[in-house]
Amino acid sequence: MSETIFSRIINREIPADIVHEDEQCLAFRDINPQAPVHILIIPKKAIATVNDLTEDDEKTVGHLYVVAARIAKQEGIAEDGFRTAMNCNEHGGQSVYHIHLHLLGGKAMGWPPFPNG
Ligand code: AMP
Repeated sequence: MSETIFSRIINREIPADIVHEDEQCLAFRDINPQAPVHILIIPKKAIATVNDLTEDDEKTVGHLYVVAARIAKQEGIAEDGFRTAMNCNEHGGQSVYHIHLHLLGGKAMGWPPFPNG
């Protein structure tokens, strides 16, 4: 798999506003936030897309959600609520091919995401 900007952040080759790190994952603020709180939680293991996940990754992906819930509490958005999303490929709006969980909060978000089709 070719190196992405996110593996460069993991390797500290480029800076990021990191809010959490452990053995399995890294979380940092999105450079182009779409909500008052917009944090990306990424596995240290480079997996390109959701399509590439295998059963071996179940623990890793589950961990991303556990960390998202912890960060939501830290950021004070847990009670009001938030959105998590993992975009896949072109139609999903994926632009960085290293899976990442978006944690968005701090304002009310619409649903469905494209009410006008
Ligand atoms: P996606 O479109 O789902 O692949 O999301 C990629 C996200 O990464 C976008 O929201 C970008 O704003 C964000 N992003 C890209 N480069 C950086 C960076 N260097 N630091 C933080 N966030 C980034």
